[in-house]
Amino acid sequence: MTGIASPAPGACGWERWQVTPEAALDVFRARGRAARPLAVLTGGIHGDEYEGPTAILEICRRLATIPLAGSVVAIPVVNPAAFQAGTRTSPVDGLNLARTFPGKEAGSLTERLAYHLFAGVASQADLLIDLHSGGVEYVFLPVAGFYGPASPANPSFAAAQRMGLRHLWALPPTAGVLSCECWKRGIVSVGAEYLGAGQLSEAGVRDYVWGVLACLAHARILDDDVGPLPHQTAFTGDWQLAETDGIFRACTEIGQPVERGARLAEIMDLRGEVRQTFQAPAPGVVLGLRSKAFLRAGGWAVLLGQPVEESDA
Ligand SMILES: [Zn+2]
Repeated sequence: MTGIASPAPGACGWERWQVTPEAALDVFRARGRAARPLAVLTGGIHGDEYEGPTAILEICRRLATIPLAGSVVAIPVVNPAAFQAGTRTSPVDGLNLARTFPGKEAGSLTERLAYHLFAGVASQADLLIDLHSGGVEYVFLPVAGFYGPASPANPSFAAAQRMGLRHLWALPPTAGVLSCECWKRGIVSVGAEYLGAGQLSEAGVRDYVWGVLACLAHARILDDDVGPLPHQTAFTGDWQLAETDGIFRACTEIGQPVERGARLAEIMDLRGEVRQTFQAPAPGVVLGLRSKAFLRAGGWAVLLGQPVEESDA
């Protein structure tokens, strides 16, 4: 593990990192003219998400041919057991790796994996980009997530803008999320989401590749500058939760603008009775929806984003 976050001069290629006795990761490391700035790229923290891993593989192919100013450590599949199983959480201990950082040195497999990833790699980063999607159970409007105020003076927001997606999301500061734990420690952090429903979106791969390379240029890790950004809108908001088990039926689609009070979705029981309805508490845009129809109480149902004005703060 020692030194995995600091590629040697001239390093550029893949290595096998035996993180724990049970878990080995394929890690791409490239060092340019200087060890820093260091970007850490992660995908596959949830094992049922495919845009992040696929985009990172393409990014690594490209980085191998481009002179770098700084360094990159990229791990396309951070959670191999969950990836093999095609599940959001670990099939070994049932834990959600995206709620487990900074981990525990003497915990379960997921906790130890989180510990070594965090201590050995992520906490060393100047820039952390964690690529997600909705996996099997959810579908997200493509969003680049940031922490802190929606201000270009906020490095997390400025980096999220560089991802080039049209929608930005003020991420709830959820403990245990890799990007959040990095942000709390002063690392410039972005967490992105792109569709889901168990599929691999080729548009998502293309957009993630473009966006990550643009972020690396913005961080002065790549020399190349990037093209113009689209018009972007930033949103706040968090998931509305199911209060009952049942069949989730959406009444809207991701990306759809809705008025206050609009019916967004409902949960129906197995006698056909509607047990819960989800409404828009304010005007907004649907950023995320449950995609797997059977939903249990406590699960994510609908994510409505409310636009926020960019500030100068
Ligand atoms: Zn995820």
